[in-house]
Amino acid sequence: MSRFISKEAVRLKPYTPGEQPADMQYIKLNTNESPFPPAPGVVKAVSRAEIMKLNLYSDPACAQLVEAVAKRNGLRPEQVMTGNGSDEVLSFAFRAFCGEEKGAAFPDVTYGFYKVWAAYYGIEAKIIPLKDDFTIDVNDYMDFPGAIFLANPNALTGVELPVEQIRRLLDADRDRVVIVDEAYVDFGGESCVPLLNRYDNLLVVQTFSKSRDLAGARLGFAMGCPELIADLNRMKFSFNPYNINRLSILAGAASMADEAYFQKCTAAIQENRARTVAELERLGFSVLPSKANFIFAKSPDFPGGELYRRLKQNGILVRWFDEPRIRDYYRITIGSAEQMERLLEEIRRFLGEV
Ligand SMILES: *Cc1c(COP(=O)(O)O)cnc(C)c1O
Repeated sequence: MSRFISKEAVRLKPYTPGEQPADMQYIKLNTNESPFPPAPGVVKAVSRAEIMKLNLYSDPACAQLVEAVAKRNGLRPEQVMTGNGSDEVLSFAFRAFCGEEKGAAFPDVTYGFYKVWAAYYGIEAKIIPLKDDFTIDVNDYMDFPGAIFLANPNALTGVELPVEQIRRLLDADRDRVVIVDEAYVDFGGESCVPLLNRYDNLLVVQTFSKSRDLAGARLGFAMGCPELIADLNRMKFSFNPYNINRLSILAGAASMADEAYFQKCTAAIQENRARTVAELERLGFSVLPSKANFIFAKSPDFPGGELYRRLKQNGILVRWFDEPRIRDYYRITIGSAEQMERLLEEIRRFLGEV
């Protein structure tokens, strides 16, 4: 820290991203990226001719991308806003819908960034514990007067909250906005998008980083009624009007247009997930029911980070959080069939099975 840093900046506790080590080639099962390359159309869209236009600013309206997202989801362009990763979109949502007189509520075990943004903007966070089985009880949120942020399927756990339950929250108070972060919904979860035309207090946020193989392009989007979307754009135009670069706008639009490739990749992940879960359970693990491209698992043979450390020594990265309630769990990204087989081979070896 320099001697120039402000008191406010000192107080922040930055988010810790999963490691991206450069010391050797790891099998990366730690940050929920896709093991597959982007759709073939993405490579064509990001052409030399487009690179030659990088001297010009990108479209501040991101019209091409907004239209592609709207079309795919059966919405009008006024119902869509795009951002530099869904992280940016979510951060705008915190700024737009919370403040001194309106807090934010979210679970104790969820996407770690919610807490970070609340602190960044000086928003009071009401952190509500998940039940013992890591599910959300919406009754715990019914009377909360501020904005509610729910990752669904939930981050860290992969557990899905039924859309029916989210509807109860939306109905309970039509003057309260519920933000549903659907970063992982494309791996077998049920989306809240069909509710958008009935609820003007619902904002659905999705990303290109997991199910669309574009984590490095930094693309995310929000869907909601035109007024909510205008509020988010108000944040964007107060912060960074050219928030998405020219190449990512093209990459995102091309990806959205290739439904077949998207279906193929997300189906492969679900298949690999089912096989991995079955084998881990045979090896004595308990695995939370996951609708995401990762699983949250523990084993009496590997308490307190043991598996994370041993796998890392053997070239495989998974995510382990040294935090209360979840210290014995490992979050394992579902990769390609070959990657998952390597993981299971190592675990069998640790257990003396081979
Ligand atoms: C990965 C993730 C995000 C952020 O995705 P980006 O679009 O890459 O910024 C948001 N929410 C949850 C729950 C995530 O896991």
